[in-house]
Amino acid sequence: MKRTLITGAAGFLGSHLCDRFIKEGHYVIGMDNLITGDLKNIEHLMGLENFEFYHHDVTKFVHVPGQLDYILHFASPASPIDYLKIPIQTLKVGALGTHNLLGLAKEKGARFMIASTSEIYGDPLVHPQTEEYYGNVNTIGPRGVYDEAKRFQESITMAYHTFHGLDTRIVRIFNTYGPRMRLNDGRVIPAFMGQALRGEDLTVFGDGSQTRSFCFVEDEIEGIYRLLKSDYTLPMNIGNPHEITIKDFAEEIIKLTGTDQKIIYKPLPKDDPMQRQPDISKAKEILGWEPKVGREEGMKKTFEYFKTLTEDELKRTEHRDFSKINRK
Ligand code: UDP
Repeated sequence: MKRTLITGAAGFLGSHLCDRFIKEGHYVIGMDNLITGDLKNIEHLMGLENFEFYHHDVTKFVHVPGQLDYILHFASPASPIDYLKIPIQTLKVGALGTHNLLGLAKEKGARFMIASTSEIYGDPLVHPQTEEYYGNVNTIGPRGVYDEAKRFQESITMAYHTFHGLDTRIVRIFNTYGPRMRLNDGRVIPAFMGQALRGEDLTVFGDGSQTRSFCFVEDEIEGIYRLLKSDYTLPMNIGNPHEITIKDFAEEIIKLTGTDQKIIYKPLPKDDPMQRQPDISKAKEILGWEPKVGREEGMKKTFEYFKTLTEDELKRTEHRDFSKINRK
């Protein structure tokens, strides 16, 4: 039985990865420090014979007894609100955490994958973004702690690959959505869905002309799994290229949720990228992968999930407004 370590296991993508690897017959060790993750996302796995959970912070030395075949490092805060609230932890998990896990992979002879991100392209001047684009990142802006940690993470992973011959994979993940997204992480999909369910107006930042391209979680996990199993060791974009402006997206959500909310406009956060769309030619050619779930179907499934949250959970939104975050 293959043994796979997944960090960030109680998070959105991490928990879906745990499900997938268990389905594939792996023994899965999930690790999380639960700063942004939630045990609720993996409670259905607790007690399974081929799953165990370590409550551990990967910025500290990581010890896992026994053989490991794969390590997937998916632990990190992943929303702009989180970077503002916990900037140092964001830097540490991408930098120190990755270093610790690379050391572990080397020791165990495991294949190592990191969750990189479209954020390494910053506010991109090339559109759509190909893997060859070097990016346009403000190192000292609010997103810099995440973007630079992720860029360092790619560098150190490639260094272990070339210097130590470690078997590595780098996936650049674009905006992904689906069940188990954290309601109060401030990202646009949980924000809009929460607002619709509470009967509040939808908050569009800026004039809403900025674009994003949203990928349903099932598609994203399939792409990640295929990349891990492939021989491709350079960074690869995995995301859905269907691009939409945030204003049009807000209108879609109003239609989908059948509510009569209005759109209200709030200031655009600093360094918010104006456009984002993955070029997925490489994934298509090398992995034979492309997204299958359209936005309408994916958003319906996601809304069904948010509808299962309790009244109490729906109220826990205190951090969603950037202006309420105290920046010293
Ligand atoms: N956004 C918005 N209203 C919200 C939350 C986000 O208009 O309540 C915008 C945000 O400014 C950005 C886009 O939606 O342009 C996507 O934001 P998100 O935080 O989901 O992800 P990222 O900016 O990292 O792609």
